[in-house]
Amino acid sequence: MLPVIALVGRPNVGKSTLFNRLTHSRDALVADYPGLTRDRKYGQASYEQRQFIVVDTGGISGDEDGIDAAMAEQSLLAIDEAHVVLFLVDARAGLTPADVGIANHLRKQNKTAYLVVNKIDGIDGDSESADFYSLGFSHLMQIAAAHGRGVSQLLDSVLDPI
Ligand code: GDP
Ligand code: MG
Repeated sequence: MLPVIALVGRPNVGKSTLFNRLTHSRDALVADYPGLTRDRKYGQASYEQRQFIVVDTGGISGDEDGIDAAMAEQSLLAIDEAHVVLFLVDARAGLTPADVGIANHLRKQNKTAYLVVNKIDGIDGDSESADFYSLGFSHLMQIAAAHGRGVSQLLDSVLDPI
């Protein structure tokens, strides 16, 4: 079984952009990976000879009801079946209550999670990331998924221990 990396975060933070970059939009044949649930979006990716599975999720707001609840349920299951979780936040939007809700959920899971501050293109990533340290993650990475900046450093950190 290949390592599974789940992308979670509230809507619009750039999860699908990162998914497409990592997988080059190649959809995995889910049937080849027993144990993975079928109704999330999986892609196969490789980086420096390492193969892994990336899971895109619809988004999670941390305070779910109605249609968001079904989407959030998918995200929670994706977290469950992943080896590593990449928790994306938006550097331009700053820290939101939804981010805090997701962080609280992740903290209760016994799972390696990286806080990934996205959209640092054209802004001062360090100062825009400062607020996010309050979420209490020991791993914080800065990327611009749309441009690829920081993505290889992210993969170096994430894949090394798994
Ligand atoms: P998702 O809802 O988390 O899957 O977010 P998407 O991947 O659909 O991206 C939401 C919006 O953010 C889109 O308009 C993307 O083009 C934009 N976006 C994603 N990554 C970046 C980035 O690195 N920099 C900037 N400036 N915009 C980005
Ligand atoms: Mg998306």
